[in-house]
Amino acid sequence: MSDAYQQLVQHISEIGQLESVEAILDWDQETYMPPKGLHARAEQLSLLARMIHDRRADAAIGDLLNQVNGAAGDPVRETNVRETRRIYDRAVKVPSNLVGRIARVSTHAKSAWVEARRDNKFSHFAPHLKELIELKRELADYVGFENERYDALLDEFEPGAKTAEVATTFEHLREALRPFVAELKDAPRRPDQSILTRHYPQDKQVAFSRMLSKAIGFCFDSGRIDVSTHPFCSGTTPCDVRLTTRYDEQFFSMAIFGTLHETGHGLYEQGLGTEHMFTPMGYATSLGIHESQSRLWENIVGRSHAFWEHFYGDAQGMFPDALSKVPLDDFVGAINSVQPSLIRVEADEVTYNLHIILRFEMERALLDGKLDVNDVPAAWNSKMEELLGIQPETDTVGCLQDIHWSMGTFGYFPTYALGNLYASQFYAAAEKAIPDLTDRIRNGDFATLLEWLRSNIHRHGQRYRAADLVKVVTGEPLSDAPFLSYLRAKFSPIYGLG
Ligand code: ZN
Repeated sequence: MSDAYQQLVQHISEIGQLESVEAILDWDQETYMPPKGLHARAEQLSLLARMIHDRRADAAIGDLLNQVNGAAGDPVRETNVRETRRIYDRAVKVPSNLVGRIARVSTHAKSAWVEARRDNKFSHFAPHLKELIELKRELADYVGFENERYDALLDEFEPGAKTAEVATTFEHLREALRPFVAELKDAPRRPDQSILTRHYPQDKQVAFSRMLSKAIGFCFDSGRIDVSTHPFCSGTTPCDVRLTTRYDEQFFSMAIFGTLHETGHGLYEQGLGTEHMFTPMGYATSLGIHESQSRLWENIVGRSHAFWEHFYGDAQGMFPDALSKVPLDDFVGAINSVQPSLIRVEADEVTYNLHIILRFEMERALLDGKLDVNDVPAAWNSKMEELLGIQPETDTVGCLQDIHWSMGTFGYFPTYALGNLYASQFYAAAEKAIPDLTDRIRNGDFATLLEWLRSNIHRHGQRYRAADLVKVVTGEPLSDAPFLSYLRAKFSPIYGLG
């Protein structure tokens, strides 16, 4: 009989394998499944969800955890035991029927959300949202929390993060961003964005975006890129990473930067240790850290002047009608234009976090009972006015724009903004470690940066919680200072600020 730790690893590996099957079925649903396959797929996924929940809460895991307690000694073992305990403790507290109710209500909520968007009628969605919030409050009460219910939900996506700390970080960020947005608005120069809405043939976009993805290190023998309505990265194993993207022939940025973004997620997945496959040491540590990798490649590298010094000739060759007469500096300005806008996923780097702060504040108020569901549209619009100085004309482009709430995912949005902050802090550390990093990017050397990310972040899997990883990698706790100084250094020359 093998020892308790080996049995535990066997157990959690099987859960990991089931999750990877679930991920492939999800990916298939978003990419190739014919429409009539939906009903059967819902049954398959629901069965898998129950199997995964039951295995996570299996009393055998509790027994094994008790036997291996204190028997740790190496970081791999410590990580696997700690994270398995976290998942087990959470799973046993939550009754299966609550998991089932949330899944069922979300399925209906998602279709009500689609209808509400179509008809621009928040009232179609409101009763479903109300029910989901009640279920999530119930869930938080089962899971338990230190200060407020939101902690229990946030912890699912960003383990160890505390709502109050996130709120302080966001408060500071908001106070720094709003005057900067105003400064850019009155800046002496303004890039011409219309360059990006010329005609960019789809077949050329496919070829160009794949070329970029490969150039920065994505391995196509261990991954694929397909098309879906909502782009995502599905990490099944480091040897099988599925990315999706979408194309718009009249908009350069959607596919190109969308693909760079998902490639950043994909590089993290491909960089996780195959020897730890299906165990916590082989998984990404948090969604915030995941997002830091996508944002780093999409924005810090992919929208930099140096990056396009290397690739702009290729882009002009690929899209001669649109770009042959556009100077490099004008192009770099266009892909970095800042403009308060209504839609989060299309927001620029400066205003993006304000969209997240709005959602975080609203979710927190909804969970606390300080905001009534019926008042969501009005609260949304007044917060948009306060944070971005604009108001949506319809709820479809206002409080109904994101899919997350209809899926019952509350506590997820903050990870996007945290990802931006982690990305800048990591990148500043990489620049210190690799003093000629910008020159390397200018010359098309991305392997040095990728190697640095692999050895400092990817290979650790879940060894460190996000907050600890930041300290280990950069020597400092999370701060918005690197992000804010990155923004100023990047946008001042583009906007002609002194
Ligand atoms: Zn992302």
